[in-house]
Amino acid sequence: MYKVIIIGSGCAGLTAAVYAARADLMPLVIDGREPGGQLSLTTMVENFPGFVDGILGPQLIENARKQAERFGAQFRSGAVTDVDLSQRPFKLTVGNETLECEALIVASGASARTLGLPSERELFGHGLSTCATCDGFFFRDKNIIVVGGGDSAMEEATFLTKFASTVTIMHRRNEFRASKIMLDRARANAKIKFLTPYIIEDLHDVQKKNLESIRIRNLDTQEVSQMHIDGVFLGIGHDPNTAIFKGKLDMNPDGYLIVNNGSRTNVEGVFAAGDVHDHIYRQAITAAGAGCMAAIDAEKFLEGHTA
Ligand code: NAP
Repeated sequence: MYKVIIIGSGCAGLTAAVYAARADLMPLVIDGREPGGQLSLTTMVENFPGFVDGILGPQLIENARKQAERFGAQFRSGAVTDVDLSQRPFKLTVGNETLECEALIVASGASARTLGLPSERELFGHGLSTCATCDGFFFRDKNIIVVGGGDSAMEEATFLTKFASTVTIMHRRNEFRASKIMLDRARANAKIKFLTPYIIEDLHDVQKKNLESIRIRNLDTQEVSQMHIDGVFLGIGHDPNTAIFKGKLDMNPDGYLIVNNGSRTNVEGVFAAGDVHDHIYRQAITAAGAGCMAAIDAEKFLEGHTA
């Protein structure tokens, strides 16, 4: 029986772990399917206060993990596949095990969106990727596409110019959602071209299990064409990892958990932190702040309740 279990080991989960461990709650952190969360898939983080020259995302995560461990937090690999929140202690299924806890912090984050094309699944890892940091290296001197019009697309495209000959940002609208500074940085990069308003309708060649070309449509003219390309990176946003909480925790129509009065969910003793509930700010620093709030809220809750 744990006093606190934290689901997720990204910025929110690790900050919650540091605070809960320092409060002597001996938290267990369950890593989840993407250990370290989104920061472990990014490069330089320049806007986390305290790092004058920036810090690499994976380094920031590793530091926070060690910091939590130093105060007694434990870590367990694997993902939670089911939860019973109907009464305390709460029950969590991880692999063949059932874990119990008096308070639960959900910091399961959000995962990369895909286009929903049948050919997509076959070509992931064979020219198609959602992570420039992970796969950019494989595209040295290649011509690649980054799909999306937000900050992620700008960031990935800029990063990929380190390797690729050309990077084309393909977006379905002529207007961009990205912040001005990120968009300007991409526009100023000689290796980056823009193609709008276009969508990808299909990816080839599934038979060869290698991405060689894409069928694209111009949404102004409806003209369809085939384009030879070496790689496609999807930078089209994320969806919250809340499937196991459907019907158990309140969420908005997009699946983001709803919190009230700090980090409290609709189930007493269950708290949420980070991108799993925050669809507006979605920053490392706000996730860390939310993790801190959840740990303090859990501590206060446990002071007044025993299982
Ligand atoms: P986002 O802001 O939601 O942008 C997603 C982009 O993908 C949008 O341009 C959207 O098009 C497009 N898109 C979505 N689904 C699509 C589909 N099925 N087909 C084609 N295009 C599709 O997501 P994000 O860029 O990941 O950013 C999320 C948050 O993280 C933002 O708050 C952002 O500022 C932040 N962020 C910050 C940094 C940084 O500061 N270093 C880096 C990355 C992200 P529409 O515009 O037409 O909807």
